[in-house]
Amino acid sequence: MRLTNIYNYPQWYVDMVSGFLYDPTDGGRRRSDCSATRSINPLQQIVLTRRYGDSVAVDVSDMTWIILGQAAHSACYHAQTRSINRLKRAAKLAGEPEPEDLPALEDRLYVPIVTKHGVFTYSGQPDRICFDHTVRDLKVTSAWKLVFDKEHREWQRQLSIYNAMGYAYGLPVVDKGQICAILKDWQKSKAEDSPDYPQANVQFLDFELASPDTTFKWLQQRAEEIADAMELGDDELPPCTAEEIWAKDEKWAVYKDEKSKQAMRGGVCDTQEQAEAKLEAIKADCPGAYVEHRPGRHIRCDFDPDLWAKHGIVSPGYCKIAPFCKQHQEYLAEQGLEVPEPAEPVLVS
Ligand code: SF4
Repeated sequence: MRLTNIYNYPQWYVDMVSGFLYDPTDGGRRRSDCSATRSINPLQQIVLTRRYGDSVAVDVSDMTWIILGQAAHSACYHAQTRSINRLKRAAKLAGEPEPEDLPALEDRLYVPIVTKHGVFTYSGQPDRICFDHTVRDLKVTSAWKLVFDKEHREWQRQLSIYNAMGYAYGLPVVDKGQICAILKDWQKSKAEDSPDYPQANVQFLDFELASPDTTFKWLQQRAEEIADAMELGDDELPPCTAEEIWAKDEKWAVYKDEKSKQAMRGGVCDTQEQAEAKLEAIKADCPGAYVEHRPGRHIRCDFDPDLWAKHGIVSPGYCKIAPFCKQHQEYLAEQGLEVPEPAEPVLVS
């Protein structure tokens, strides 16, 4: 991935961020065709990332959450090390042998799968395997992901992949998984406004895992789907679903007056009629009240067209290849918009 520094952050910070960029070769030691994290992305996104990923530039300022994610993973690793050492010390003090089923420390795992197209290698780095018989992973993510993706099938799949990978490395099979989702953009006001919005900035989500056997079959099928899709043109790729693009429906919000920064409590409505009824009910007390239409959005596909045109970067970049995606281009065209020509990004050295 190419990196820019449009706000001129100091070089030491740029160096720190550069060190966190995903490296599929793991420093040249191993080669992976796809990480567990990427394998669960929409098929169209996987293929377009393989085609255009090297042409995409992102800015250092949009990598902040990667640093926080790495910090969270690191904290998890150290907590796990302390737990292991505590268990070992307790066994030693009691004059007993070390427990046999101590958890595996975070490590990158590689699993080759044989497909009709050849060998396809997946890699993955779970946070905790088999500690209290649960596979865990930390996610620093958007609160909107939890709002618009209710079933979290991608995360269930990722945990199942880690479980299967652990099994391939000789670790015990477990059947439970947990995602600790740290919500980077959580807002108290939104939580008060809607019960559908996460009510706290960290959420723990529990999953029943698929068996390693089922997961290996899925991994094989996925590898073949990716290889087959690579043969298709950009406009022939299977479109992402509403769930995958984190589609947000249009809303109508009632404000008490022009000075209000937020809609009134309970004033965000699914239909214009509902909003008009609420407006009518408060009109006598709030003569300046009004209704604002909030258009629907495809949140995962969003990027700032001005930054693309001025600096050639994809920001915020939930889907970093959005400017190249025909499906998203068509969606923009329906609204009379188009993807502007990008500037040549000024890359950091
Ligand atoms: S831009 Fe949106 S529709 Fe296109 S691949 Fe990305 S998530 Fe899917």
